[in-house]
Amino acid sequence: MKTFCILSAFALLGTCAKPKYTARIQTLKDNIKLEDSTFVISYANTITSDELSTHLYTFSSKDFEGRRVGEPGQKKAAQFLKNYYESEKINSPYGANNYFQNIPADFFSDGFKASENVLAYIKGSEKPEELIIISAHLDHLGINEEGKINYGADDDGSGTVAIMEIAQAFNMAKKEGHGPKRSILFLHLTAEEIGKRGSEYYVLHPAFPLENIITNLNIDMIGRVDDIHKNNKNYIYLIGTDRLSKELHYISEKVNNTFFNIDLDYRYNDERDKNQYYTRSDHYNFALKNIPVIFYFNGEHTDYHQPTDTPDKIDYKLLEKRTKLVFATAWQIANQAKRLEIDANNKYLN
Ligand SMILES: [Zn+2]
Repeated sequence: MKTFCILSAFALLGTCAKPKYTARIQTLKDNIKLEDSTFVISYANTITSDELSTHLYTFSSKDFEGRRVGEPGQKKAAQFLKNYYESEKINSPYGANNYFQNIPADFFSDGFKASENVLAYIKGSEKPEELIIISAHLDHLGINEEGKINYGADDDGSGTVAIMEIAQAFNMAKKEGHGPKRSILFLHLTAEEIGKRGSEYYVLHPAFPLENIITNLNIDMIGRVDDIHKNNKNYIYLIGTDRLSKELHYISEKVNNTFFNIDLDYRYNDERDKNQYYTRSDHYNFALKNIPVIFYFNGEHTDYHQPTDTPDKIDYKLLEKRTKLVFATAWQIANQAKRLEIDANNKYLN
């Protein structure tokens, strides 16, 4: 490529013909080198369906009363997460035992009470200022008008317990001297169900500068199978992957193709898709700040936003596999030599 460029420069008196877009994309793809393949799989394998199931039966139990923003059940859910990180000895970015980012009631409308995001953090060993955020929302719909609890096992108990297991895996790696080079924030957001308000608050009051966030991997519903995939449950919808960073898209694909072979379904990533899921979960508040995102999603099902979204209906083996995909993708972004770039800064594309 270099030779071509020099010759053209000579021939065209100083102008340099750009390689075709497809060739530039190919160069970008060719330059993605996966990090530590043996480690990533051995730590991914600490993520188990048994542990995911144990966490989820608690998190979506009746004790948590559907986790409605600001209500006692949601507070219990936040406390449950805090207790978990304390027991795992995974720190908070705020220090000591202060895992909550408190959001005052007056930030919400419609009479919702004060609530909190829950933050846990593993500091990077080489580039600690650069940050990967893995997020899921901890709140749900609470109790409906008939007095039935909306358990929200899939929405978003599945994403919540996935993060718990991912954090544990990274922490185990760190203890054994293989911690992430960049920092990772495990961000459990409140108030998603009332308009993504927890993530809106977070980007207004970030624990670390927004410009240091490399990517947001947001998980919202990954434990079930929708009607479209009844006959092939080895899938996940990915939304947003290529909108701001083609590098992110191809990293995600390479990690999946190398380790997992899940069918990555991009139908909802189509900008003309009528559902507009890209705008409908917490990652969108990061995307609006020009931060590349991936939204991991299994699609809607008949129990979506119903009291019947219960933990017995989760496919735990599938949840495990999808969780491992998020973990391995985060591992690559946290450990690769060069910082993930948005397209505008990517030399291969410009
Ligand atoms: Zn959700």
